[in-house]
Amino acid sequence: MDGSAHPAQAWLGGPEDLLERGAYLTLLAGHRTADLDRAEAARVAAGTLADLAEGAERERAEAAEEAASARAEAQAALDAQEDRFGELLDEQTRLERLLAERRAAWEVRAARGPAEVAGAGERAVPAAGAGGGDDRARIAPDTPVCSGGDGGSHVNGRFPVSALCPLPQAGEWLRPDAAAAFVALDAAYRARFGVPMCVADSYRPYHEQVRLFQEMLPGMAARPGTSQHGLGLAVDLCGGVHQPSSPQHAWMLANAPGHGWINPDWARGGFEPWHWEFTG
Ligand SMILES: [Zn+2]
Repeated sequence: MDGSAHPAQAWLGGPEDLLERGAYLTLLAGHRTADLDRAEAARVAAGTLADLAEGAERERAEAAEEAASARAEAQAALDAQEDRFGELLDEQTRLERLLAERRAAWEVRAARGPAEVAGAGERAVPAAGAGGGDDRARIAPDTPVCSGGDGGSHVNGRFPVSALCPLPQAGEWLRPDAAAAFVALDAAYRARFGVPMCVADSYRPYHEQVRLFQEMLPGMAARPGTSQHGLGLAVDLCGGVHQPSSPQHAWMLANAPGHGWINPDWARGGFEPWHWEFTG
């Protein structure tokens, strides 16, 4: 050997160099693989996160959609309730106006009454200022004296004033026997509650029956000419008696029949707790 280097050695260096380069390349490859693995892992992780995010976004969108539809439903229910409430208010306003008109009509009739029923109307009104204060005068039992009617029979709703007797409640009239029984019942009621019975309606002439029949909801008023009001044998009461759960109503159920007055079966069950009829 002449000691000259092998040409390959000049380019590659010694075997040690070769070994070092080999180890370096292996190391480099290893690093690269690790980098690739990390990149892949990151890619997978990113993909998973994207999937998760997409899923979450989809769920959020669905939830938002559900919330929107629930909100729309709630709003619709609220609107419906408001509409119904408005209708009930209108109906109440209408009935209150009707009651006020009816009372006004009766006041006119009551004012006319005394002239037609020889002084009976005057006795129907408690004497103002007699005895203690106004309250005493108002709640003092007073028994109107009535001639007892004209004895004739009359068509429903066509009673002349002379065939009716006034109640202690101004402007209210009934057939004489019903009126007398009502006055006794009213006295017992005053003894129990300290106030006269509240009467919203009593004898109802035919034209009033027609008007009510036309204005009331179906089934709420009797067919004209068939109402017990038209015979002077029915009253519509207020002051608590019109509410089935009130002590006044309970008292009436227990005590009115003893005076010949009943809340008929058809009026029970909350249908017309205010309507009472004289059965004799
Ligand atoms: Zn009635």
